[in-house]
Amino acid sequence: MSVFVHPTAVVDPGAELGDGTRVWHFSHVMARARLGRKCVVGQNVYLGNVNLEEGTDSFCPHCHALLVHRMGYNTMIKKLEGDQCGECGKKLNFVV
Ligand SMILES: [Zn+2]
Repeated sequence: MSVFVHPTAVVDPGAELGDGTRVWHFSHVMARARLGRKCVVGQNVYLGNVNLEEGTDSFCPHCHALLVHRMGYNTMIKKLEGDQCGECGKKLNFVV
């Protein structure tokens, strides 16, 4: 068995498609999506906004403080104060 992806569909690098899965017209499977075996993704489906436990938060590149926490559709500002890290005070190139 194999995976079928219609030529108009987009499957981002890093997405995992189980054996026998079919992705149809104009659908988009985002990078961190994981589909099981024999899934059928119909036309015009967007598989993104996945509720992930990791990889969606933003951290200060200097002190690694949690700047923005994201969970599903919720975004919580933590240690971001204007354009600075609220922990170490370094200026950040960050847009919310
Ligand atoms: Zn910092």
